[in-house]
Amino acid sequence: MSIIPSVRRIASRTLDLFYPASCVNCGAGGSWWCNRCRSRVELVTQDPCPRCMGFHPQQASAHCHGTFQFCGIATTGYYHSKPLRKLITEVKYNGVTATGQDLERYLSYVLNTRTRSFPWAQESSLFIQPMPLAPERERERGFNQAAWIADRFKRTWLQDIPMLDVLVRHGSVTAQATLQDKLLRTSNVQGDFIALTPVRGSMILVDDVVTTGSTASEAARALIRAGAYNVYLLTLAIGK
Ligand SMILES: [Zn+2]
Ligand SMILES: [Zn+2]
Repeated sequence: MSIIPSVRRIASRTLDLFYPASCVNCGAGGSWWCNRCRSRVELVTQDPCPRCMGFHPQQASAHCHGTFQFCGIATTGYYHSKPLRKLITEVKYNGVTATGQDLERYLSYVLNTRTRSFPWAQESSLFIQPMPLAPERERERGFNQAAWIADRFKRTWLQDIPMLDVLVRHGSVTAQATLQDKLLRTSNVQGDFIALTPVRGSMILVDDVVTTGSTASEAARALIRAGAYNVYLLTLAIGK
């Protein structure tokens, strides 16, 4: 059960090198995520409310009763949009990283259509944190699609912002190894996520897709406990 996905992943990565490119969504030849499919993604034209993830006027966010821990959220498209959903699932479950260049083209295009500034524009000390893999996923595939997506964002949207990968999930191999340290065991463990070192600055948490927002918010809480000033969420897609 656990071997099959990784064999598929390796096979898929090897095939990427030898086979002519074909679009993960429509199958057309010439690229891994074609121009036509990229242009068909339904884009998100407003940043979601950082407290409830809904779309309401920015002024209303101040009075919103949502409980998410973010200072701002940015995303690119809707998860119900098939070309984007297909890209994410092919990267996530089959490791089709050959789509990277086409994804970066898409991100550059979305960046050009953005008329508003980033929610984190005023931050002076800022780091990128990919969403860590759940322990069972880590055992199953070892490939973290959120880290790969964070790299694509770094090359296009977040060029001067360094990566600071300090967050792990409770029960993961890294967490278990580190938790043998008695200090960490007593001070930092609460909920699903653990920051392995203190954080001095603000963080942009990057994930493939956000749906309910509760897991991402829990990750944000762990970063805040570790000292992060503000936490922002950046995802490729938003689902409902
Ligand atoms: Zn296509
Ligand atoms: Zn709200």
